Amino acid sequence: MIEKVITRFAPSPTGLLHVGNIRTALFNYLFSLKDSGKFILRIDDTDSERSTEEFTNQILLDLEWLGIKIDETYKQSDRLEIYTKYFQKLVDDGLVYKCFETAEELDIKRKRLVARRMPPVYDRSSLYLSESEIKNYIHDGRQPYWRFKLSGKRTNFEDLIRGDVSVDTSAQSDPVIVRADGGFLYNLPSVIDDIEMSITNIIRGEDHVTNSGIQVEMFQALGKKAPIFGHHPLLVDENGEPFSKRNSAASIKGLMEENYEPMAINSLNVSIGTSIEIKTFKSLNDIADKIDMGQVARAPARFSINQLSRLNSDILTQLDIRIISERLKGDGIMFDEGIWNVIKSNIKNISEYKDWDKIIKGSIKVDNLDGSFMKLAENLLPPEPWGDGTWGDWIARIKESSDKTGKDLFLPLRRAITGLSNGPELKNIILLMGYDKIKDRLSGK
Ligand code: GLU
Repeated sequence: MIEKVITRFAPSPTGLLHVGNIRTALFNYLFSLKDSGKFILRIDDTDSERSTEEFTNQILLDLEWLGIKIDETYKQSDRLEIYTKYFQKLVDDGLVYKCFETAEELDIKRKRLVARRMPPVYDRSSLYLSESEIKNYIHDGRQPYWRFKLSGKRTNFEDLIRGDVSVDTSAQSDPVIVRADGGFLYNLPSVIDDIEMSITNIIRGEDHVTNSGIQVEMFQALGKKAPIFGHHPLLVDENGEPFSKRNSAASIKGLMEENYEPMAINSLNVSIGTSIEIKTFKSLNDIADKIDMGQVARAPARFSINQLSRLNSDILTQLDIRIISERLKGDGIMFDEGIWNVIKSNIKNISEYKDWDKIIKGSIKVDNLDGSFMKLAENLLPPEPWGDGTWGDWIARIKESSDKTGKDLFLPLRRAITGLSNGPELKNIILLMGYDKIKDRLSGK
């Protein structure tokens, strides 16, 4: 029987998801969608101090908004009994060991090694403690924590993106898997869940390559085969800096609040640094059959907000009028198709409709107008009824009566009429505003 693809996205709810996190979610989702498989959301909340309910809820909202459909959701904090059972097996098999060093003691050891230009790998001194030494520590009130014993060899695995990967576990400290307070750290619960949830493919950022080497040994220790990995390069911003949970500039929540179109984010996110054409796709289903992890570039992919705005604007011009009207109604704005048609190819974001509604129908204040030029333009304004030729007639009259041309002519008019130095074509805008309103604007009212 050919097994169906089962992927998972496993965020820690310790901050807002950003476009880089979403790249991982999208790759996993699309990879399973292509195979009509299953996509699991696993909330990695074993770090109870930093994980919050609020971030968990926001993750759910973000994914829903982006159109990522979750087949099953799990929270690690609900699954501690399962982890304990597996952990006990590792204890029984002698594959984990108690440790007693304090954080300060470990720090001293680490610094000594660094000073001698040696890799700061834990020296396993606790592994060699005798029973009586362990008893003494416990008698002195020290609570043990547990480390997983690495093989000290190289672990090799095949990676969908990077090809053959080899991690030298002798260059790694035996990872702490259970803290002195009994809490589990990331590596082991992740492996246990991947086993329990029959995950076939783990696609995640390349910052996890070393973890994967370690986890392959944990799968083996638990008698299981590791899923197939795919480590993608991390997304970076326009300055080449990685996105971080602490910097919310490109958070999904922020982009949602700024009214970006989810499919603009999705389309850009998976097409940069892959073989997929950079354009707007209508739905995630449309992208799924194009996804090919073997074609993900090894260099970091750059996510640019300008590029996002371009795709966003592209989607806006194609959006159904009814959808736009509904969305604006939700924000308490009355939709006017005339305004929309004039501005749609000039705006990057639907929220700009509101600004144009105010410019065209409401009142704005514009300072520093060239009074005498405005007076001249006002006097030459053609009488109504206005039509397609009105703008051309008006400009021809102004040119006849002044020496202004080009930018010197158009920019002051644009500023007076809209308060801005760029925007949709004035020949269309004036028709929406009418004689009286244009006259008022020119006279600074
Ligand atoms: N909680 C981990 C993270 O957010 C999950 C990594 C993984 O196993 O995919 O980096």
